[in-house]
Amino acid sequence: MLGTGPAGLAAAEALIREGMLRLGGKVLGELLSADPGYRGPVVACGNGHEAVFTGYRGKIIDTVVGEVRLRRAWYHCAACRDGHEHGRGLAPRDAELGITGTSLSPGLAAMTATAGAEVPFARAAGLLAELAGIRLTVKRVERAAEAAGAEQAAATRQQARLITGREVIPLPPSPLPDKLYMVIDGTGVPVTARETAGRAGKGPDGRARTREVKMAVFFTQDTLDHKGYPVRDKVSSSYIATFEPAAAFGDLVRAEGIRRGADHVRQLTIIGDGAAWIWGIATSKFPEATQIVDLYHAREHLHSLTRSLEFMLGDHRDEWLAARMEDLDYGYIDGIAAAVRTYPLEGVKKDEAEKELGYFLNNAPRMRYRWFRSRGLFTGSGVVEAGCKSVIGQRLKQSGMHWTVSGADSIIALRCAQASSHREAICPSRHNQTPAA
Ligand SMILES: [Zn+2]
Repeated sequence: MLGTGPAGLAAAEALIREGMLRLGGKVLGELLSADPGYRGPVVACGNGHEAVFTGYRGKIIDTVVGEVRLRRAWYHCAACRDGHEHGRGLAPRDAELGITGTSLSPGLAAMTATAGAEVPFARAAGLLAELAGIRLTVKRVERAAEAAGAEQAAATRQQARLITGREVIPLPPSPLPDKLYMVIDGTGVPVTARETAGRAGKGPDGRARTREVKMAVFFTQDTLDHKGYPVRDKVSSSYIATFEPAAAFGDLVRAEGIRRGADHVRQLTIIGDGAAWIWGIATSKFPEATQIVDLYHAREHLHSLTRSLEFMLGDHRDEWLAARMEDLDYGYIDGIAAAVRTYPLEGVKKDEAEKELGYFLNNAPRMRYRWFRSRGLFTGSGVVEAGCKSVIGQRLKQSGMHWTVSGADSIIALRCAQASSHREAICPSRHNQTPAA
């Protein structure tokens, strides 16, 4: 009997949903049992042998409508080896349904991956129970999310191979944006001790506690605001991230760049913090791109340059820094160098100042900020820094977290796909590709 008040209603809702899930599971089970999966006396085992029908076996899977019991034909291949065991069993029906080697239906696996990419696995399990009435152990949530992420990462790599190999030629985006940006950056993800064995780190004991994820954010910009500042196009961001070394990352970035129209836009710009590997990728993969050192990183370096001269500057420190900030905003790196070299430095002090100055001299062509601004370009990565933080940091860098590289890589792949999907929803990419002639 439905009681009065919100408590009574909530109880009724919960009760009815539970009943609907039981009913749904039963209906789905009956639908699935209409085909018992018998595919003749023998089937191909997948490894070049024949597997023989041996009878029917049961399997219980979890689905979005609850637990479902299946009975399907079972085959045995005597020639296959499964670990140390001779012979291997298989059900063709499982492969057709996408449940080989798993007890989660594809629908529930996708739901679990969405939750596991968004929040820690224990919380994800709690959300699934609370919002969908599905109870899974934390371990199963973790396994399902990581499996989905590994699949996503493999699909991204495969697509990148096809695009960079010119087997798939993406059509330019339509309408073609005026300016395409790539912001490239690296960030550390806390990992287990085993993942950093033998790697030097910045910690007091010299041991690394993080592994670097290389990340690229792509976005477009067509307009300026009323003050003349560039405005990032809404829902134009897509994300690529990986633990792989710069060379492999470069290929992923190249493919995503092609997909985003890098070869067709009028203005292509790459923004980075000044690290040499970033410019290596920029120069080899997108030689036509304008390279810009993120203005905020350059300002930080100006602060440390000023610190190295502090003993000489004395009371003039703030005034000197303000003048150099103006030089920097103007892109007048020669002015900064001249101002440093008016001081007669020697020995360690000279080396220190020259090292700090080197950052500016090496990157001088990437710091012509006044000119960049006059062309209506972004000069800082601040516009997407929040995006980087939310894609990697919010999920992977919470206190107490220690990831395996493969686990983190999977979750990062899911989060990049999710963060990019807002754009995909508006500019679908699936059907805009033509195979090469
Ligand atoms: Zn076999």
